[in-house]
Amino acid sequence: MLATPALIDRHGRTISYLRISVTDRCDLRCRYCMAEQMTFLPKSAVLSLEEIAVIAERFIARGISKIRLTGGEPLVRREVTELVNRLGRHVGAGLDELTMTTNGNALAQHASALVAAGMRRINVSLDSRDPETFRYITRHGDVARVIGGVLAARDAGLAIKINMVALKGLNEHEIAPMLDWCVAEQLDLTLIETMPLGQIDEDRADRFVPLTAVFDDLATRFALVRDVHRSGGPARYWRVDGTGTKLGLISPLTANFCDTCNRVRLTTEGILYTCLGHDDQVDLKAILRSEGVGGLDAALDAAMRTKPARHEFNIDATAPAVTRHMSVTGG
Ligand code: SAM
Ligand code: SF4
Repeated sequence: MLATPALIDRHGRTISYLRISVTDRCDLRCRYCMAEQMTFLPKSAVLSLEEIAVIAERFIARGISKIRLTGGEPLVRREVTELVNRLGRHVGAGLDELTMTTNGNALAQHASALVAAGMRRINVSLDSRDPETFRYITRHGDVARVIGGVLAARDAGLAIKINMVALKGLNEHEIAPMLDWCVAEQLDLTLIETMPLGQIDEDRADRFVPLTAVFDDLATRFALVRDVHRSGGPARYWRVDGTGTKLGLISPLTANFCDTCNRVRLTTEGILYTCLGHDDQVDLKAILRSEGVGGLDAALDAAMRTKPARHEFNIDATAPAVTRHMSVTGG
């Protein structure tokens, strides 16, 4: 029995998963995610690591059992491992899982510290294993460094899921080889449809690949067995039969998932968004700074009353569904 009531939204969904964007900054500029010239938040607008920890701990007290640290690139935030250590102390004592999504650039250097803090699984973004294509998509990334980080993290004991955004004309032909590589390296793979979040320098519709077609192709090449595991998120999963590898599909544009949504997102600025695709929000930073931690519970309850039933993404719309980028909300 929880000492304080669980977080249940107005549609009866229990909220058990918090994603935290620990920084909006990043050392890459993936074309589908950011514009080349981005304006980042001033330091004064950003939650301190202590404030993030206090808010996260209030969520844990209200029944949040899984926290993902993301961004932006979480590993570019100075001292982020202090936050990982502090939240890691709740794993097995309120929190079932503490995890991270990273671009892998600084992973080799941080992997052991993440394991020591209690992390068991992470997601690493890798849209291409071809050096030129990777450099083009990320605008200046070095794929060898990311792959080195992935393998170092795996060898340090982290289970790894590769995130790959399917991009027309860029990496479609690499999807099947990427799954082969994941099988060989004992990694999972999640394919993602590009989502209309924030203005970028190109039209996302030009790069959009519906994952339904991708899946049909993969099913002719791999023995895929449906896995009933649901994460309360957009992903549906398959197992590559006879291997330890799982294939996930995140297809918010072609398969809506919102009826089982269990998550909310805290931005770098301390804004709590109850849906990736809507602007409903509660300013937890303002409440924490004016009322202290005692003001947070009422704010979380208020947020539960505003969570929308579903996103309204439309890749062909002339403007993105929301103006903020994935890196701000926390992907
Ligand atoms: N920097 C880290 C990384 O790249 O893994 C964490 C943040 S990033 C915003 C989290 C995930 O969101 C990445 O897998 C990235 O590919 C994905 N992403 C970013 N913008 C997206 C968009 N507009 N549509 C779909 N996925 C997106
Ligand atoms: Fe940075 Fe991740 Fe966005 Fe790429 S997807 S620009 S690595 S935040």
